[in-house]
Amino acid sequence: MTAHTTPALSVPSASAPFRQTTIERRDLRADDVRIDIAYAGICHSDIHQVREEWGTSPFPMVPGHEIAGVVSEVGESVTRYAVGDRVGVGCMVDSCGECEMCRADEEQFCTKGSVMTYAGEGYDGEITMGGYAGSVAVSERFVCRIPEGLGLDAAAPLLCAGITTYAPLKRWGAGPDARVAVIGMGGLGHMGVKIAAAMGAEVTVLSRTLAKAEDARAYGAAHQYSTKEEATFTELAGSFDLILNTVSADLPMEDYLALLKPFGAMVNVGIPNSPYSVPPGSVVGQSKVLAGSMIGGIAMTQEMLDFCAEHGIAATIETISADEVDAAYDKVVAGDVRYRYVIDVSTITPTD
Ligand SMILES: [Zn+2]
Ligand SMILES: [Zn+2]
Repeated sequence: MTAHTTPALSVPSASAPFRQTTIERRDLRADDVRIDIAYAGICHSDIHQVREEWGTSPFPMVPGHEIAGVVSEVGESVTRYAVGDRVGVGCMVDSCGECEMCRADEEQFCTKGSVMTYAGEGYDGEITMGGYAGSVAVSERFVCRIPEGLGLDAAAPLLCAGITTYAPLKRWGAGPDARVAVIGMGGLGHMGVKIAAAMGAEVTVLSRTLAKAEDARAYGAAHQYSTKEEATFTELAGSFDLILNTVSADLPMEDYLALLKPFGAMVNVGIPNSPYSVPPGSVVGQSKVLAGSMIGGIAMTQEMLDFCAEHGIAATIETISADEVDAAYDKVVAGDVRYRYVIDVSTITPTD
């Protein structure tokens, strides 16, 4: 097999605009599948990395870890996938496969370090390039099947936003009889609402304004409250079994912990700039839990995709072309997207 060239959206240096160019993908390894990418979602973490808001990033960078497409070629030892299969790839593309975490299907916490889909260093020393591209080669162990009922465009964001919300909702008991609050109605939050409602929970959205209340109801939320209103915190005190916090802003944790019932859990998936500041009594007093959650393993990602197909849910998306990505980044930062931008990667036209 020969080297494989594919169109890609590449950032040459921190915060520079995207260039439509080509990159080389590796020859297929025995356990690789090559995927013709159809759509790639824009995750807020793509923007953090392109703009070096999380520390130094490697450039040139091709972001993208919400990948959906169709298998176009398989390596000689591939058993799970065949040419033509509809598949997705999320935040990881490799892990050691042998450590305690890998054996427990929690590859994201591989003790050797899992390999991120882009701007990561593979075990071969190569810097990984992500899904804003025409194709990618990935070990079949890190590929998920996209069920027939899900469109590839609306499925793409599930590979990060879907698993990021599904994993903590499942772990902390969202389901019938649970009262669940979701803080924030962005890319993550809108998926949190849909998934928690599909799990059978009574869902309340907590957001600054009620501008998205109609959408929240359509996605299955029973209630919506503005967090700018002090009355919200009085009225909802001691109400929730679980709070899923999807925003990355610094929040007054104590105020939100007070909304939990005894034994309730508040789970954070965003990473604010400042340390949490919490009076110990606000967790100890009623045996509450302040927790975090980061994505999920591959088996659970597959479970989440199957769950979404079964319940007829996926991301609410706006599809854009390659030349709209820079503007879309600014809109994501401004919160001006309902609810996830998805790039139609067939529109990438290399200019060099
Ligand atoms: Zn992401
Ligand atoms: Zn491992």
